[in-house]
Amino acid sequence: TLEVIGLRKSFGTLEVLKNVSLAVEKSEMVFVLGRSGSGKSTMLRCCNRLEEPDAGEILLEGQPITGSGVNLDKVRRRIGMVFQGFNLYPHLDARRNITLALRKVLKQSRDEADTRAAAALTRVGLADKAGNYPSQLSGGQQQRVAIARAIALEPAVMLFDEPTSALDPELVGDVLGVMRELKEDGMTMLVVSHEMAFAREAADRVVFMADGHIVEQGPPEDLFTNPQHESTRAFLSRYS
Ligand code: ATP
Ligand code: MG
Repeated sequence: TLEVIGLRKSFGTLEVLKNVSLAVEKSEMVFVLGRSGSGKSTMLRCCNRLEEPDAGEILLEGQPITGSGVNLDKVRRRIGMVFQGFNLYPHLDARRNITLALRKVLKQSRDEADTRAAAALTRVGLADKAGNYPSQLSGGQQQRVAIARAIALEPAVMLFDEPTSALDPELVGDVLGVMRELKEDGMTMLVVSHEMAFAREAADRVVFMADGHIVEQGPPEDLFTNPQHESTRAFLSRYS
């Protein structure tokens, strides 16, 4: 379980997160929606401490990950993150992109890391691409390597920030397919994405952010067909 409690974050005088509370239960897939600038990425970045919250608390399986005295390496090992850009090392092939973290962070031997990387690549359907460099992979394949790299660390939670928005439309489905399989395997996932059809069909819960707050949340069927808040209605009318 990932619990965000009373999260606040400002950049200068801009209050981006005003008082955000959200819990993602084990094996739940929660989607976060909201217009550009509503603070979705900032919230996700606070969850793995790429951004320092001004106030509030974030707990992972009951343990605080905010505040001083928290081991950031440990936090980032337990909370995987996948971004819009794939952030692979261009000079390393798919296998090495995955084993680097395993060797550095988990201090695994080359053999252990290779075995785990092969398993992760198999999980995202790229067992045969281990030797390909990022430039030799499609955007969708690169993103699946990025997902494999994150899951190889066996995180408790995965955060996704618009994982398909940089992809050509025909490549989106493969990445969503991998996300669906992760969910079926019981991964806990917090996802920022505008893939409404996927959210409707695969999300357990959809959260709508506006003006620094979560203005409403619920099962996708309810939120999409019967939005209560004016800003949710305005947002959905633009995306449907
Ligand atoms: P999008 O849908 O466009 O990705 P978002 O909901 O993810 O938007 P954020 O990236 O969280 O929005 O940004 C929220 C607000 O905070 C924006 O107005 C942005 O300009 C501002 N912001 C984000 N990061 C910083 C920063 N490091 N310094 C100053 N302002 C920032
Ligand atoms: Mg964003």
